[in-house]
Amino acid sequence: MSQDQRELSAPKGTRDLLPPESWAWQSVVRLAMDTFAEAGYAPIETPIFEHTEVFERGVGEATEVVGKQMYTFLDRGERSLTLRPEGTAPVMRAVLEHNLHRGPLPIKVAYAGPMFRQERPQKGRYRQFFQVGIEAIGSDDPRVDAEVIEVGTRFYSAAGVETKLLVNSIGHQDPSCRQGYIKLLVEYLEANSSSLAPEDRERIGANPLRTFDSKEAKTKEVMAGAPVITDHLCPSCAEHFEAVRGLLADVGVGYELQPSLVRGLDYYTRTAFEWTSTNLGSQDAVGGGGRYDGLSESLGGPPLPGIGIAPGIDRIMLARQARVSEAAPVRVYVVALGDAAKGESFRLATRLRAAGIGADLDLMGRGMKGQMKDASRSGARWAVILGDDEMASGQVTLKDLGTGEQETMPSDQLEARVRS
Ligand code: AMP
Repeated sequence: MSQDQRELSAPKGTRDLLPPESWAWQSVVRLAMDTFAEAGYAPIETPIFEHTEVFERGVGEATEVVGKQMYTFLDRGERSLTLRPEGTAPVMRAVLEHNLHRGPLPIKVAYAGPMFRQERPQKGRYRQFFQVGIEAIGSDDPRVDAEVIEVGTRFYSAAGVETKLLVNSIGHQDPSCRQGYIKLLVEYLEANSSSLAPEDRERIGANPLRTFDSKEAKTKEVMAGAPVITDHLCPSCAEHFEAVRGLLADVGVGYELQPSLVRGLDYYTRTAFEWTSTNLGSQDAVGGGGRYDGLSESLGGPPLPGIGIAPGIDRIMLARQARVSEAAPVRVYVVALGDAAKGESFRLATRLRAAGIGADLDLMGRGMKGQMKDASRSGARWAVILGDDEMASGQVTLKDLGTGEQETMPSDQLEARVRS
């Protein structure tokens, strides 16, 4: 590809979503938002870019996402802005800014939209990707943890994705809990540092938990013997986790305990989880989430617990098993033969649409054969044929595209007939 051609195509790591796949995509996003709404999660929209500090302080400067992957730019007023790499910090920012936490709790919201991370593109990993998500803010009741996990699991199964749910608790930021454990982990890593891969050795200081995510064989071997957080939770985090697990069992949500699951963002506390799909390659996480009881305070707010999930739509589309055939909701295709019929076909399609009946028509001036072909492409159940005879008599011919049967009727009876 020449330089010019490259600059006129979609940027690396981004994709165009085209018909007909776009129908399936849209219906999966809608299914997510409907599933969330049925559990009481109201839609929320936040800007696609935020002040960079929202992510630096919210997600954490030592994280991979903030340190290496953000699309950060200065606008014309020299303000540092960042295309959102995730949805939780913006939602918390909006909650605090609008004082939603002073109203009824918990605040339960759902979002859907593009996220941006400058990662190395590969199958299932893009620089612009799409997440749906829910956040429940204001309660640390274990039922909230179980609720968001159950709602997410139900969405995957409704979307036709077979998943495995991995669950862990990473405790809370306290010397009696995670901080104490991290000291043990660092001691272990330092004692074994000569056996670690060099890049992981460097991480010990800044982000020791992330060594669990290393893809390096040498490091993996060391990590297999590392102390795990679940053995070092403080009594209240252990009790909370126990309760969450009990509730998941109560409602029949199956999961696997994964003590090495630590997740990449600083704000996570206590319950952390991930859904993976078996029919994806190395990028097999189709969603994740966790509790973030310290996030509000990192953004200058009061103590305010919260938990959320973020399913990734791009990978869900790759992993879907049951591919229901989705098409345009067009039920009637208007076929016009002759010039007089052309204007009438437009009026008739408009009339049908106004009556709530999906309609499409020929806009290319094709012949009968071409229009019938386009009618089947449109997914319509019926073709309405307007020829010279019909124009003269004020009638229309309705053809069932499934059976091939056709009947002629006064034009004004069309809506009732199609509905029946
Ligand atoms: P995270 O916010 O990293 O926990 O991501 C939650 C989910 O979003 C993941 O499980 C993926 O399904 C999806 N996701 C994250 N990053 C990407 C990416 N670069 N490309 C495609 N999907 C992604």
